Amino acid sequence: MDGTIRNTGAEGLLEILRYGLERYAEQRTALLLGDRSRYVGLSDIAKMLDCPRAALAAKLYTPAPQNTAEALKRQITLQRGHWFEKGVHQALMGYDLSPLSQLEIELMHGDVPIKAHLDFTLIATQPQPTVRILEVKSTARLPTTLSESYAMQIGGQTALLKACWNHPVFNLVMDTGEVLHHRTFPEICNECLGVSLPDTSACDIQGWILCLSMCDTKAFGPFLPEDTDVALCLDMASEFWETMNDLRENKVNLNTVQTAQGLSPLCPSCLWKKECPHFKGSSHPEWEDTLAKFIKLKIQKKSIEAEIGELESRLKVAYQLSHTVKGEWINTGNHTFRVLPQNGRVTLDRKRLNEELETLLGEQEAQMLMARCEKQGAPFERLYAVRD
Ligand code: SF4
Repeated sequence: MDGTIRNTGAEGLLEILRYGLERYAEQRTALLLGDRSRYVGLSDIAKMLDCPRAALAAKLYTPAPQNTAEALKRQITLQRGHWFEKGVHQALMGYDLSPLSQLEIELMHGDVPIKAHLDFTLIATQPQPTVRILEVKSTARLPTTLSESYAMQIGGQTALLKACWNHPVFNLVMDTGEVLHHRTFPEICNECLGVSLPDTSACDIQGWILCLSMCDTKAFGPFLPEDTDVALCLDMASEFWETMNDLRENKVNLNTVQTAQGLSPLCPSCLWKKECPHFKGSSHPEWEDTLAKFIKLKIQKKSIEAEIGELESRLKVAYQLSHTVKGEWINTGNHTFRVLPQNGRVTLDRKRLNEELETLLGEQEAQMLMARCEKQGAPFERLYAVRD
């Protein structure tokens, strides 16, 4: 690319966007994360919990080229996380906080180089010395519970920060571009923020995950520093590094590495799906057209449902703003609509019921009673379909 803009229409514009995003991502990775194949990141071992094969492939290999539309979709999903991160940074600054951005913890465990990158680290000394680690995640939909891999990542970050507190293993690229290398955590805080921190025993340290979707956000935490998390991270990093080196030296084949169990949510958009043994099976090209049509319809259904949801929200707001008496119909020409308040759905709080029964009957009786009242639906078959 030579930086000139030619009159190439919509396709050309999308191509500029794809190319620009890919190049920007490479530059950002090189600047903030360095050569990712030379160390094990905490995010790598968290990804290993989802799928070891995908985590290792992403670390070592370049994926097969995709067409512009697919590559652009992928870049937007990846970059959205960084865009949200910028927004969160602005929000923290707007609150007069001074977070440390992308604080790096760099250590060796035996011969295994490990790095953890903390999105935001917030420090306060009043009313008591406090450290908060904030990890930002972009999700298509807000999860009800946090995934095991996200929990592992924030747990590992929090535990490593505490364990490494007084070791010169912290690096930081400051806003001025100046890089602080090999400092202890209190030294970094002193140089960047002018604050003095006591020992970890006198500090309140917590990790939090902030999930953001396009129009909502949810916080998960607190995660407290646990020694067992440090041990787990170090063990997993050693395993990751060993397998990575074996793959590099062709001692093992990627297809012998363990894959995700069941149909992982990662599988549909996985770049290493084509040869994945997880989907190895007999060949029946005669079903290709039916399957392709099925997947296409499912994608259309999803986008139609999203469109319906959006229109419904707009109509509800329009009704509220119309100053119509509650319950009165609005005629639009050939159609009519109104918005009525509805009672919330009644659900049974199983946990609460269990607790109440345990108080009344004792643990064993309560469990037996619950088991007697449980009903299992008839078994059914579920179709799993994934596009190569
Ligand atoms: S397709 Fe699924 S199982 Fe296979 S490597 Fe990708 S995420 Fe793992």
